[in-house]
Amino acid sequence: MADFGGTDLEAFRVEARDWIAANFPPALKGRANPMMREERANPTPEQEQWREAMGSIGWGVPTWPAAYGGGGLSGAEARVIQQELNRAGAYNPIGGMGVMMFGPTLLEYGTEAQKQEHIPRIVKGEVQWCQGFSEPGAGSDLASLQCKAEDKGDHFVINGQKIWTSGAQFADWCFCLVRTDTSKKHEGISFVLFTMHQPGVEVRPIKLISGNSPFCETFFTNAIAKKSDLVGPLNGGWTIAKRLLQHERSGLSGAGGGGGGMFGMSKPLEALAKDYVGVDDKGRIADADLRARIIQNQIDARAFQQTAVRAMLEAKGNSGPSAATSIMKNAGTKVMQDRAELTLEIMGAQGLGWEGEAFSADELAAVRGWLGGKAVTIYGGSYEIQANIISKRILGLPDLTQNH
Ligand SMILES: Cc1cc2nc3c(=O)[nH]c(=O)nc-3n(C[C@H](O)[C@H](O)[C@H](O)COP(=O)(O)OP(=O)(O)OC[C@H]3O[C@@H](n4cnc5c(N)ncnc54)[C@H](O)[C@@H]3O)c2cc1C
Repeated sequence: MADFGGTDLEAFRVEARDWIAANFPPALKGRANPMMREERANPTPEQEQWREAMGSIGWGVPTWPAAYGGGGLSGAEARVIQQELNRAGAYNPIGGMGVMMFGPTLLEYGTEAQKQEHIPRIVKGEVQWCQGFSEPGAGSDLASLQCKAEDKGDHFVINGQKIWTSGAQFADWCFCLVRTDTSKKHEGISFVLFTMHQPGVEVRPIKLISGNSPFCETFFTNAIAKKSDLVGPLNGGWTIAKRLLQHERSGLSGAGGGGGGMFGMSKPLEALAKDYVGVDDKGRIADADLRARIIQNQIDARAFQQTAVRAMLEAKGNSGPSAATSIMKNAGTKVMQDRAELTLEIMGAQGLGWEGEAFSADELAAVRGWLGGKAVTIYGGSYEIQANIISKRILGLPDLTQNH
């Protein structure tokens, strides 16, 4: 591949477009990434072919170092790839928690041997990761966690329970916070990695009223983590966990773009409103109050996107996300939830269906998206916890919580 040095973007765009046209199986056009779903267990030949192609070229994680199989590209080149994937109706087959949060954290804190072992397999989409952080008694106050790891020389023996472990039933490996010193709180936590495919790991999917099981209870009974899979120092896991959460919040804020698709609706709100509510004699959305609130949501979304791009450009070459990701998470998720609320309001009674022929696929998706969207202000640290972080770390206000 030519060395564009981040300058000759149009030439790179042509190369990306040609490569996608040559490698993306047309049968997958418009499909979503199957990584966190049942179909991952039985991929079609086209899905495998696409994952292998993107894994080989490293464009699934375009800005990760080429030394570990990543694309080694600039942020501008990465955006070109995303634009060209969108243009072709192609999903990025390399995703999940390994890409969003664990990989960037390991690149920063892992040993060379750990990076060599784990990063290339994430780049190629060969390994799916899950996050073993929350416990029944440790959510917002995560440092209260009790899941225990005992030092047995060349390995740890892990006993305890995690909860809300997203995708644990499909995961191959877990990045996990464990207690290695009971005499201290934050300074008694370590960050370990282990395979989920071992007898000491039991996963019980939590079935929701919708019938879905997006997350699980996860039990460890004498599960084993190799010493070589301790990331950072013993009892030094809290610093690494906080960094990983910044990467998670950065991804969840939707700073990369829009967020509307996250709730199952890709049609612009104004077009939707014109369809459902109708237009006045000037061709505007008939309901003036609704019109004003749609415009406000669009202003908020645009302001959020511009701020995200500016923050990314200002941070170029800098050390990645910071405490400011808490602002972006709260702002981005609010825009997304407002959009989901407006979508249902626009649909009226048609936005209240759960099943049945009286409702279109888009209407049913909108209801599920609205419900599912309630979770974005909970996972990755709740809205209130982000507000605490903003007040303490950014505004320098007194800490009245003693958490985080
Ligand atoms: C869809 C989904 C997926 C998830 N996936 C994962 C996963 O893969 N791995 C994982 O480890 N965890 C996961 N979680 C768990 C998530 O991180 C926790 O739910 C979250 O941190 C909140 O913890 P909690 O549920 O125990 O709520 P609690 O901590 O009990 O909080 C309850 C309420 O009290 C508020 N509150 C608590 N403390 C304070 C305070 N100090 N100041 C102000 N308000 C406060 C909270 O904001 C919240 O509204 C997931 C959660 C959801 C909903």
